[in-house]
Amino acid sequence: MLLEQIKNYEIFRPKCDYSKEILHGIATFDTDISPVFPYLNAELGGWDYDRDNQVLMLKLSAGKGFTMQRHEIAIKGARDIEEAHALLSWIKGQINQVYERREEITPRYTGQAGLRVMDILRLLPMTNCKACSYATCMAYAAALREGEIRLEDCPPLWEEKCQEKREKLQTYLESFGWRTLDAE
Ligand code: SF4
Repeated sequence: MLLEQIKNYEIFRPKCDYSKEILHGIATFDTDISPVFPYLNAELGGWDYDRDNQVLMLKLSAGKGFTMQRHEIAIKGARDIEEAHALLSWIKGQINQVYERREEITPRYTGQAGLRVMDILRLLPMTNCKACSYATCMAYAAALREGEIRLEDCPPLWEEKCQEKREKLQTYLESFGWRTLDAE
């Protein structure tokens, strides 16, 4: 097990806006967890990975996410104290599981941050039909880039006439390790 003991876990409201009903957390520990980063990045679709400074960012839906450094995990966007603890427990479990299986995993050293909204947009049906609940295909493309929604949320993309675009979009997204992610 790579990460056994969390030394300290501070949970707080964001200083920029105390009225916000969300919590952030910072967990610190003595273990250096950076050896798992390229494998975690590959398995969970990291948003950004700075290999030189060993910083890995993961985004979940609904504004939640993690920023991991060698001896620290910053958690953002928890609904309440219980969720702040559940998110820490989830990422700790992922770190340990992925580290155990690292020999079966091809490490990834790039993140999703290089995805471009315009490149996604040109592979969408571009009808602005709103079936995805976004006002425009551009808004959907931006949300897709953030990993907040799924390809299945655009029904026209799954029509036969869009098959070529869909396959190209899937290939493009996968080349950046894109995926939607939720802590369960
Ligand atoms: S459902 Fe697809 S085609 Fe319609 S607005 Fe959303 S992204 Fe565009």
